[in-house]
Formats: sequence, structure tokens, C-alpha cells
Amino acid sequence: MNQNMHIAAQPVKLRHKKNSYYTRMKKISHCKLLDIRNLTESTYVLRIEKNDFEFRAGQYLVLNIPGENNAREYSIYSPENVPYIDLLIKEVTEGDVSVKLKSLKPGTKLEISGPFGFFILRDNRNSENNHFTFVATGTGISPFRSMILSNPDLKYNLIHGVKFNHEAYESGDYPAERYTVCTSQEEGIGYSGRVTQYLEEKGIRKDSVYYICGNSGMVNEVTGYLEKNGILPENIRTEIFF
Ligand SMILES: Cc1cc2nc3c(=O)[nH]c(=O)nc-3n(C[C@H](O)[C@H](O)[C@H](O)COP(=O)(O)OP(=O)(O)OC[C@H]3O[C@@H](n4cnc5c(N)ncnc54)[C@H](O)[C@@H]3O)c2cc1C
Repeated sequence: MNQNMHIAAQPVKLRHKKNSYYTRMKKISHCKLLDIRNLTESTYVLRIEKNDFEFRAGQYLVLNIPGENNAREYSIYSPENVPYIDLLIKEVTEGDVSVKLKSLKPGTKLEISGPFGFFILRDNRNSENNHFTFVATGTGISPFRSMILSNPDLKYNLIHGVKFNHEAYESGDYPAERYTVCTSQEEGIGYSGRVTQYLEEKGIRKDSVYYICGNSGMVNEVTGYLEKNGILPENIRTEIFF
């Protein structure tokens, strides 16, 4: 079914124009906050009730604290087939919502709408490009964790750019041979340097479909590098968080 066919329950204020059309067209559900798990001083996993919310790994939802009318988008960190929804959130100290969410108590009702987005796995089993390369910075790893845990037979490599080693969030969830952390601001436990340097140094697979997620600077830089090196635009997909 076309996901834009739902009738709106009520509009939600969103900052991102590109998303507002889809958001207006989705039903809002009320889900209880179940738990908040701190991964680092500033990054946490918010677990909420799933109820009848269905999504494809890689999609995001829009979250609002009731009464605030200040919604934010969050990619889904948990796999498709578990009875809860996890979101991996970085507390932005000068930000509004990410700070407030961290201080909520379990049991608080949250408004969610969605799912949104087309950053989902393409079926490449019969294609020449039957391998995925996932490139993320920071919490941009979220959609990839959902894709990987939802599809145990996936052939992929995951490259995760972080500033500090302790930001290699839950790296034990990925087999060591498929996961590389690139640390830019201290000696790395994997690779020392940025993800673009890593790609330039190690080279790129031509038989891969590239998915890139994180801040716009990295996403644009990596996309440019891949295109310059012969990766066709149809084999590059991107999701920009900010
Ligand atoms: C499709 C989509 C999916 C997203 N998924 C996630 C996700 O899974 N996890 C997540 O933490 N955020 C995600 N974001 C960003 C999220 O929607 C908020 O922007 C973020 O939580 C900050 O909100 P805020 O109200 O605290 O700060 P705001 O007042 O909205 O922003 C303050 C400033 O913080 C910066 N900023 C925004 N996000 C980040 C970040 N993650 N790290 C560092 N700086 C940032 C921006 O430059 C912004 O100008 C996503 C955004 C989009 C568009």
C-alpha cells in the first residue's frame, strides 16, 4: 500500500520541509516510554512500546512529547521483529528535544507517527551488486543496526565514524570482520582517521550498494568520492540527520 494514503489525525509541527508532507499524512499513536539506557554520557537508547506500529528497517519515525508540539525525526535502531522500538539518540546540549527526552521517566506517554522514509534495503540478491557497504557517522549507525539485525544473512561491511573510541555504540552486535570503527579525534581502536580517509586508503568495492547516513558534510563528501570513483548514482543511497 502507498504509505502516503493514510488520513491525518492531526498535523505535527516539523522543522524539515522535506518531511512535512509525509508527516501530515500519518496517524499519531501514543506509546509508553519503557526504558532509557545510557551508552555514553551523551548518547542513550530510548525504548518505547511498539503496539501495532510496523516499519521496514531503515525507516524513521517522528516523536513528540505530548503538549510540546516540537516533533523530531528518529531512525529506528531496533530490528523489525521485536516487540518494542529502540531509538539511538545523541543529546545535543544546545538542542531542545534530545535533552528533554533524556530526562523523561518510564511510563511517560509519547506521540509517534510514521514510519517514514525510503532508506530501506533494496533486494539485490540477483544483482551483480549483491553486497552492501554501510557508512555512518555517530548516531547515523541506527538504521544500519536495524537492517543488520533484521536480516541475519546480509552480506555487508559497516564503517562507523566517531570522534572518540567509546562512541563505537554496541559494536559487539556486529561480527568483527564486517565492522570498522574510524576514530577521528584520538588514536583509534580500529582505524585512526575519518571515514573518507579510510575509504580513500583501503579502496572501494565496485560490486557493492552504498548506504550513507549521518551529518550532511560526511554524506556529501562520501557521495562525491564514490561517484568520482565510478559508483553509479543508483548504487548510492543517503539519509541526512542534520
Ligand atoms: C530522517 C532523520 C532521522 C534522524 N535520526 C536521528 C537518530 O536516529 N538519532 C539522533 O540522535 N538524531 C536523529 N536525527 C536528528 C534529530 O531529529 C534531532 O535533530 C536531534 O535529536 C536534535 O534535536 P534537538 O531538538 O535536541 O536539537 P535542535 O534544536 O533540533 O538542533 C540543534 C542543533 O544540533 C545539531 N544536531 C542535530 N542532530 C544532531 C546529532 N545527532 N548529533 C550532533 N548534532 C546534532 C544540528 O546542527 C542542530 O542545528 C534525525 C534527523 C532526521 C532528519
